Amino acid sequence: MINDTYRHKGLRKILVDEIKKHGIVDENVLSAINKVPRHLFMESGFIEFAYKDSAFPIGSGQTISQPYTVAVQSELLEIKKGDKVLEVGTGSGYQAAVLFEMGAKIFTIERQHNLFLKSQILLKKLGYKLQFFFGDGYKGLPTYGPFDKIIITAGAPFIPEELKLQLKIGGILVIPVGENSQKMTKLVKVSENEYKTTEHGDFSFVPFLKGKSK
Ligand code: SAH
Repeated sequence: MINDTYRHKGLRKILVDEIKKHGIVDENVLSAINKVPRHLFMESGFIEFAYKDSAFPIGSGQTISQPYTVAVQSELLEIKKGDKVLEVGTGSGYQAAVLFEMGAKIFTIERQHNLFLKSQILLKKLGYKLQFFFGDGYKGLPTYGPFDKIIITAGAPFIPEELKLQLKIGGILVIPVGENSQKMTKLVKVSENEYKTTEHGDFSFVPFLKGKSK
């Protein structure tokens, strides 16, 4: 059975209060973070670390994003029930689980094969139904688009044209842009070839790499 105790739930509640204090107001985001058992997304489930507001290594040189960062990206996406969302960088699957709890239909893509397999097994076990893809997120998923929302969870040197094309008109793309540290960038597709971008603070992500890995 899934090990999610009252202690885990209590720690999660404290984490949600902390994120709220940092300025997250979307109740849908806060309640999703309150629901997802983050400790199960981390190797051997170190609970003291799982419910601290910080990033953590998940193997293959990758990290599970900091809960506050997950909250910021999720809030900027303005998720509505039934939104079709493309996530680039499945990683541990934590961000995808949060978006699923918010009512989105998730298509998530990962370039590291072991993370692609691992996150899939875990999310299935937890009852989260999403679609997983192994591939290069720079290319997106042209055959499954267009999407209402697109989220990139790795630090990107620029906003890939290919992903902008896979966004519906009125759709939102959230991406951390920059080499060493990243500016959280929200792009709204105003018309077929018109975009509006705004910046929402500095963050630090693992790099958005080209191509699939073995
Ligand atoms: N959303 C994840 C964050 C993982 S870190 C979570 O909640 O845990 C970012 C992830 O992006 C890493 O797993 C990395 O392998 C992946 N990534 C980097 N470049 C990519 C690319 N071109 N296509 C798909 N995934 C990529």
